[in-house]
Amino acid sequence: MKAWRFYGFGDLRMDEVPVPQVTPRHVLVEPLCVQPSVTEAQLAQGIPTLAYDRIKRRLETEAPVQLFGHEFCARIVEVHPSVTRFQVGDRVAARAKLPCGQCGQCLSEMSHRCRKGPVIGFDLPGCFSEYAILPENSLVKVDDCISDSEAACLQSLSDSVASVETADIQIGDSVAIIGQGSMGLECLQIARLSGAGRLITVDVRDESCQVSRELGADIALNAKNCNVVEVVRELTEGIGVDVVFECAGGSPRQGLAGTQTQRQALEMVRSGGKVIGVSWFGAPLEVDIDFLRERSLRYLFPDISTQAHLAHTVRLVASGRVELKSTIRHQLPGIESVPQAFEITANKSKYQAINPAQVIFATKQQNVP
Ligand SMILES: [Zn+2]
Repeated sequence: MKAWRFYGFGDLRMDEVPVPQVTPRHVLVEPLCVQPSVTEAQLAQGIPTLAYDRIKRRLETEAPVQLFGHEFCARIVEVHPSVTRFQVGDRVAARAKLPCGQCGQCLSEMSHRCRKGPVIGFDLPGCFSEYAILPENSLVKVDDCISDSEAACLQSLSDSVASVETADIQIGDSVAIIGQGSMGLECLQIARLSGAGRLITVDVRDESCQVSRELGADIALNAKNCNVVEVVRELTEGIGVDVVFECAGGSPRQGLAGTQTQRQALEMVRSGGKVIGVSWFGAPLEVDIDFLRERSLRYLFPDISTQAHLAHTVRLVASGRVELKSTIRHQLPGIESVPQAFEITANKSKYQAINPAQVIFATKQQNVP
């Protein structure tokens, strides 16, 4: 089969490799639609972010190696006899981070917090290949009314569901969301479903602000045209909002906001309010702890998404309560397009992308919806 393998950072080649054999509690799938995550697209170029050291070590000791590809929709083509929940023909999506099943966290029903289990695409091959082996306990069946393209977004959506759950929004809470990329727009829609009152969003791209309004923002601010901290304070009688999601920070080389949005988040939340840190920064940050302490701020980080979160995403999209289509701008045909998808996803603002660029695989069977 054809499979993309990394020989080093920035060195991606399509090789011919054997089709993997199904093992106990695993299935063989044919990918239908796969997108690099923003984190993967940055790691592919050697930009420090989540899991950089782990990927660097694997490239130095194991290259060429199949990496990335945990955001996908795939069809099952073979199941091991020990698999009980799935059958051939099922379309599936997955969560990336898997439990080890043996540590104290796993045994005390906190398996999503396990730090020993593997991550699909980082420790196990993902779906940038014609076939892939996936563990049954990572998968969710995709409802027939969800397209392949929407299903490829479910993994990221499950992280957004976990982020909003961490915020524990109370009915009527005012919420600001900085960054209207795919996760920011997902947090917006889920916060709205979770009882948020006034919803204020921030981005620097007019097209993202427009989509944000269409998906339920009461006020979408373009940070290029105003001082967003001042505007949020004016809108809240000088108090600040109850909850802020910070979804824009990261490397300015990739068009992300650097660290300024983290400072804005802390300045626009009310005393005693919550800031949810969704972004990855790729380097240590300086934080004024006394500022947080004096205002009794709670700076929280999203819990790891669970299988229940992933199953919930299927319901949210199938019922139309969360809309993903308007964020998908780039769909590239065929497995050959994988490097182009990485390039676009690593530089989304340059290509006017909101969601990562998707690769639509040519498959041997007829696609359902
Ligand atoms: Zn464990």
